[in-house]
Amino acid sequence: MNKVLVVDDIKDNIMLLTFELEDDGFQVLSAYSGEECLKIVEEHTPDLILLDINMPGMSGIETLKHLKDNGQTTDIPVIMVSANNANKDIIEAIDLGAHDFVAKPIEYPVLAARMRSALRLARALFDLEKANFELNKYATTDSLTGCYNRRQFFSLTDSEISKAKRRDCKLSLIMLDIDHFKQINDQFGHAAGDKALVSMCELCKSVCRDSDILGRLGGEEFALCCPDADIDGAVKLAERIRIECENMKIEHNDKVFSLTISIGVTRVVRSDVTLHEPLQRADAFLYNAKHTGRNKTVSDLDHGIKMTQESSE
Ligand code: GH3
Ligand code: MG
Ligand code: MG
Repeated sequence: MNKVLVVDDIKDNIMLLTFELEDDGFQVLSAYSGEECLKIVEEHTPDLILLDINMPGMSGIETLKHLKDNGQTTDIPVIMVSANNANKDIIEAIDLGAHDFVAKPIEYPVLAARMRSALRLARALFDLEKANFELNKYATTDSLTGCYNRRQFFSLTDSEISKAKRRDCKLSLIMLDIDHFKQINDQFGHAAGDKALVSMCELCKSVCRDSDILGRLGGEEFALCCPDADIDGAVKLAERIRIECENMKIEHNDKVFSLTISIGVTRVVRSDVTLHEPLQRADAFLYNAKHTGRNKTVSDLDHGIKMTQESSE
């Protein structure tokens, strides 16, 4: 049932309209002034407002301004009502965002048609916003793990790199890859592999800061961008993730298994223009971790000191 708020300083006008609106299946709320209207809107969030223009105290136009300036109420359709058909008021109201104008004395069937139109438009806008939200989610996140997809990770991390360089802040990059993941799939099934990916991401998110950016680069390979983290902090974080992963028990169909990950960590340096350069270093460290035993973290601290010092200072 749609909720309509009728705002008018004359009680009889409200009563007359209430009868017809209730007959038509609306739930009716009423307010006798602009001030009261703003209070009721905050508490009850009506689907539509019928707003008298000429009221003592806060006028309908003033009330409309408040409604449209407030992010919580700006999308509620407002139909202005007035006995005074002055073009100036009508134009101002529509320019301020009123959906429509109805002249007094009100012809109910006409008002009802305009209300249906306002509600249809509000519904369509709501559906569009919801669809946009969903589309944006599909376009930016990985559907299995809920972390950012490759494209979004690149885009967010590139802007973090620019920000860090502008402000002369630290930034580190961690690349993680599950060890012998193919064997997990082969031994326990693809669904168990999926569960392992989800569990690993949940673990990462639980130990990361809110400002860290976790992305799935592909398959069982992930990257973590850590704004404000120097290389020591990033290596500590990587080791914490690695050890917690090793100790994590994953249950699937009465079977319990665990996994290990190999990690490459690098800090972003001044000569890094985009994510491409640090990602290449982290990837090389990850490759090194894979080829020197797996379940380990390799970083600038082990191999790249010379290289990163040269390029940063
Ligand atoms: P390494 O230690 O060298 O990284 O070996 P690995 O087996 O982890 O790596 P490899 O690249 O040989 O195999 C990765 C496997 O990951 C193969 C692929 O089927 C599996 N995989 C990729 N995406 C998914 C997914 O979304 N779900 C599941 N269950 N498996 C996936
Ligand atoms: Mg792997
Ligand atoms: Mg791989």
